Formats: sequence, C-alpha cells, structure tokens
Amino acid sequence: MKSLTEVIAEHRMGMGMTFYRDGTCKLPTCACGESMHPNSYAAHVSSVWEEERTIRTVEELDALPVGAVVQELPAEHTWIRHSTAWHCSCDGTDVEWSTAEVVHEATCRPEDRLIVLYLPEEA
Ligand SMILES: [Zn+2]
Ligand SMILES: [Zn+2]
Repeated sequence: MKSLTEVIAEHRMGMGMTFYRDGTCKLPTCACGESMHPNSYAAHVSSVWEEERTIRTVEELDALPVGAVVQELPAEHTWIRHSTAWHCSCDGTDVEWSTAEVVHEATCRPEDRLIVLYLPEEA
C-alpha cells in the first residue's frame, strides 16, 4: 500500500490555468494525466488516497500487519488487529473476529467499505 507521500508525488499538479487570446483556456494536468480545474485538485487527491486505502477482500485485509487500524464506513466501527484476529471498537477486548468475519460484516451493503486508518510502519 502506498504512503500519502507517494500518492501526492504521483499526483503533482501542473501549473495553473492557461488563458489564450481567443478567450479559451486550458486546464492544468495532474501528473496522472487527468486535466482538471485547480479547485478540484484537493478532491482529486483525496479520492485517490481513499481508493488506495480501501479494503474490499479478505486477502487485502489479511495482508495488513498486527497493529493496523481500519475504519468501517458508514457504520462507525473501528477495527484493530491485535494478532491474526481483530477487535471492534464496540465490543469488549475479549471479543475476537477473524479477517473473513470482519470483511463479511463490513461489506454487507454496497455502500459499506473499510478504509485503512493506520499502519504501524508509518509511525
Ligand atoms: Zn492525479
Ligand atoms: Zn462493532
């Protein structure tokens, strides 16, 4: 998984708008190739960053190290990996969930998603 620094480096924005004499203008281009109004840049990087951090499968969640913290949205459950198992913020610490159970729980509805909040090696 890329760090925020890497994502920002891959989405450097070109210079501002270029205005031509004939009244037309050219939008600046992000390093990824997408052209956009400068006002849309923050939303662009933010959505790329969220997509980079989105977990959809048991394999992706299982690849995260012990100490990882994942947010379930829109349900407000925060999952913390303390071993091969996970704790949810709304349970006592004696309640353990397997990776498959977390993914099943957090992907029931189409709008459900898991976003990586914290990885220990980033500290
Ligand atoms: Zn970009
Ligand atoms: Zn919960």
